[in-house]
Amino acid sequence: MQFTPEKYRVPDIPMQPFIDAEEIWQYLNNTSCSADKVKDIIDKSLSKERLNLEEVATLINATDTDLIEQIKEGAKLLKQNIYGNRIVLFAPLYVGNRCSNNCDYCGFRASNKAQVRKTLTNDELIKEVEALEDEGQKRLILVFGEHAEYSPEFIADSVRTAYSVKKGNGEIRRLNINAAPLDIEGYKIVKKSGIGTYQVFQETYHPEIYKKHHTSGRKADYNWRLTALDRAQEAGIDDVGIGALIGLYDWRFEVMGLVRHTNHLEACYNIGPHTISFPRIKDASNLNIESNYFISDEDFVRLVAILRLAVPYTGMILTAREPAIVRDEIIQYGISQIDGGSKIELGSYSFKGNSHNIDRSQFQISDDRPLNDIIDELLEQDMIPSFCTACYRLGRTGEHFMEFSVPGFIKRFCTPNAILTLAEYLFDYAPEQTRLKGMMVIENNLKSLSANLEKEVKEKISRIEMGERDLYF
Ligand code: SAM
Ligand code: SF4
Repeated sequence: MQFTPEKYRVPDIPMQPFIDAEEIWQYLNNTSCSADKVKDIIDKSLSKERLNLEEVATLINATDTDLIEQIKEGAKLLKQNIYGNRIVLFAPLYVGNRCSNNCDYCGFRASNKAQVRKTLTNDELIKEVEALEDEGQKRLILVFGEHAEYSPEFIADSVRTAYSVKKGNGEIRRLNINAAPLDIEGYKIVKKSGIGTYQVFQETYHPEIYKKHHTSGRKADYNWRLTALDRAQEAGIDDVGIGALIGLYDWRFEVMGLVRHTNHLEACYNIGPHTISFPRIKDASNLNIESNYFISDEDFVRLVAILRLAVPYTGMILTAREPAIVRDEIIQYGISQIDGGSKIELGSYSFKGNSHNIDRSQFQISDDRPLNDIIDELLEQDMIPSFCTACYRLGRTGEHFMEFSVPGFIKRFCTPNAILTLAEYLFDYAPEQTRLKGMMVIENNLKSLSANLEKEVKEKISRIEMGERDLYF
């Protein structure tokens, strides 16, 4: 039977949410942990099975140093086996920071008078996309505050405009969205513009804590937000991203919430979320938030490793909120996507001066390295930075599921496509030193392919060198 979120809008009928805070705490409080149990659970995950809530609670309750190391090693192995050494790159593009909500952690909140409000005009949006294309970006996420001005039509128009911008060899091939929850009709309008993933983060899965941090505006309604991606699914958007803002509540509860949300989407729509995000709260304009739940880097690594094992075939995103040193360390435990060259002040990609101004942005980022520096660093670590958008454009949704479950999929499609998009970047945008490094990484990775495939990829690279673009498998 399909889950129909419509029924939860009927007044006076209390919602039966798929998140039951008491049940989650029971799992966390009553699940025991032993070395044998942890080993079995890691083995289950490595054999390509998603974990249930009890198993996730067991991993969370493993606080012994040795067991934590085993979990981290398991996550590392899973990432290597499943995702290999590719890492997908994207950039955020803030379109507007008007907002009628009051989330107490966010610089855009309506009550923050210090925030300089701005919505990009069509011309400004075009300039931003051109600047991003000039850097070599191919995948963007458009970000919006929650405001009547940012209607579904407005979001869809922004998407169409961004897709239409072509500068030099540049083009945007995939646009994801992070914006307010919509109703089903709204999602249908946005879907028509050709978006990739629609992200809505629940922020915290705990209803009482949620209330405390979301005091007014549409977002104060926990259930409306919790069912956002059900409505997206009902509108035909089967590519969705979930997330929790880490630091509002106990991270262990949030991990359980994210897994429960994943299970819910899988059970109702046969497809889990495409991505999971777990941003940690960072400084923001006029920030004055009280919370006892900010977490250490050590616990953050545990969180990432446990999530990796819990939902092996879901993409995991780590953004520039985190400093370079944390990102470089954590990627190995299961991250599949990072942003690079991010600038989050409204209009800052096309602005040539120093753009850091916390009153023009939602929060402070910590990793402001240019895209090429990040690519160079990834190449240094023998990783393949990828701008691949092939699955999405060929209608292969559930790509992570395929990577995971279709034997040979990564070798046949993902690695070659990552190599081809890297080659494009190296020919079009990279300085000499990065180009040489990148060509060596490509050379090494070609050896891992079958002889036939290696030949096909080499032939495509030659065509790219001769000027063709957008070649993929
Ligand atoms: N207005 C949309 C909404 O609320 O869904 C867009 C949200 S915002 C552009 C994307 C995410 O940034 C939020 O969902 C929240 O998790 C995160 N965020 C907000 N304030 C933050 C802060 N101070 N530090 C880190 N992340 C923050
Ligand atoms: Fe507005 Fe989103 Fe910020 Fe909340 S998190 S104040 S809804 S932009």
